[in-house]
Amino acid sequence: MTHPVLAALGLSSTESGTYLGRGEWSKTTDAGVLEPVNPSTGEVIGKVYASSQSDYDIIVERAQEAFQVWRSMPAPKRGEAIRLCADALRAHKDALGSLVALEMGKIKPEGDGEVQEMIDIGDFAVGLSRQLYGLTMHSERPGHRMYEQYHPLGIVGIISAFNFPVAVWAWNSFLAGVCGDVCIWKPSPKTPFSAIASMKICNEALAKAGFPDIFFLFNDAGTEIAQNFVDDKRIPLISFTGSTHVGRLVGERVAQRMGRSLLELGGNNAIIVDETADLKLAIPAIVFGAVGTAGQRCTTTRRLFVHESIADTVIEKLVAAYKQVETKIGDPTLATTLMGPLNSQEAVAQFLKAIEGAKAAGGKVLTGGAAIEGRGNFVLPTIIGDIKNSDAVVQAETFAPILYVMTFKTVDEAIALQNAVPQGLSSAIFTTNLKAAEAFLAASGSDCGIANVNIGTSGAEIGGAFGGEKETGGGRESGSDAWKVYMRRQTNTINYSDSLPLAQGIKFDV
Ligand code: NAD
Repeated sequence: MTHPVLAALGLSSTESGTYLGRGEWSKTTDAGVLEPVNPSTGEVIGKVYASSQSDYDIIVERAQEAFQVWRSMPAPKRGEAIRLCADALRAHKDALGSLVALEMGKIKPEGDGEVQEMIDIGDFAVGLSRQLYGLTMHSERPGHRMYEQYHPLGIVGIISAFNFPVAVWAWNSFLAGVCGDVCIWKPSPKTPFSAIASMKICNEALAKAGFPDIFFLFNDAGTEIAQNFVDDKRIPLISFTGSTHVGRLVGERVAQRMGRSLLELGGNNAIIVDETADLKLAIPAIVFGAVGTAGQRCTTTRRLFVHESIADTVIEKLVAAYKQVETKIGDPTLATTLMGPLNSQEAVAQFLKAIEGAKAAGGKVLTGGAAIEGRGNFVLPTIIGDIKNSDAVVQAETFAPILYVMTFKTVDEAIALQNAVPQGLSSAIFTTNLKAAEAFLAASGSDCGIANVNIGTSGAEIGGAFGGEKETGGGRESGSDAWKVYMRRQTNTINYSDSLPLAQGIKFDV
């Protein structure tokens, strides 16, 4: 029987994972099957037929054809196409939000919130379609004019992670779409139904209005086609969201062929709480940042640095708050649930391994520290004290709700500790001291792509450029001028005089 959440989106329990363009879904059934599992129950949600290499070849050919048309369509008209996608997502927000909750395991408000992010970036992209500005420059030569313009880049390849199964695609494809690019998406094998549903909603809206196909989809049973995708010279940009381990391989391979990559990789985000902090703000921010999405956000708060004078108070309040969350762990689709499951059994194993590693390093479990017996991938949100920032387990990103708490004496020391990890995604300070806030934001302060004051590490708004430094990969997507990565820049000089003054005053008589 088809799961009612799939049925609500017109999906059946067996779907093709390949959108070939021209309204066609592949009939391939012999390239493997993906069977995403409901992380709350361990039950298979349905079957998705994986794509073959020949499906992939058809997709790239059709995407190349589509680009010939799409790149010449006026950008505001392309914006109109994305507006239709955002409107279609509005109409399906509840149903798609439920599917994200079912398949990924995040709670329903987070599933709906993720669809809202798709809608928001759609609206942003519509406005952007009239603002793809270049600069004009004053030429040093008389009778000359100089300016720069941004042209569409080509096919954008999007490889996404399981934890944001729909929003990451929209952040990339809606901006790339107004920039005149066409997109090929390879989603996580853990969340193919969310991808298929998003693709159907948007592509049906585009087709109804007579727009060409600009969004294509394939699902890989292993990683072979994904690797060919990364190596494919016909794809000038690969936008990759996922672990640092895989992102490093992808970045190296794309660089090898002189392609462009946009890397959004792992984080190891910290909050600093100084002795002047308003704990009414800090405590809920820490709990939401560490426990939200069961610790499976790239921006999840994983480390906490508390001034030594208030450490006992902060820990006591956090442990009390965690005990409350413990009573609301369960089915993410229920309105009363605050924390859902981890996405997979492997993630539970990683969680337990990290706790063992922390204990071996002398860490003390202050609350949580165990998986919950029974079906599904549920664990207790965990706080660990008596641990050092330099311990291996603290240096690594474990994609689970584990918070390491450490103390400091001065803000400078806290900033240095915060920066002393390989990753550089999101960071925050809670303080009412102007000097501490400014020190945190200064050039000598946080080395992360995101640095916040009196607001936590997770839940970035789409209006700002999103991404991080160091092993987080250096990419930026979403708002601000992140659109530029999806376009090629061209500098133009026009001579409207009757002479040809050469650069550097050189005389070249012919
Ligand atoms: P993952 O690296 O295991 O997989 C990401 C994607 O890469 C999947 O689609 C996977 O199928 C694909 N893939 C795997 N091997 C590949 C290969 N050899 N070549 C090409 N593609 C390959 O990551 P995950 O477990 O799905 O996601 C969790 C990770 O993603 C965490 O580290 C998290 O921090 C990170 N993440 C980062 C951001 C960000 O914006 N910085 C956002 C979301 C998630």
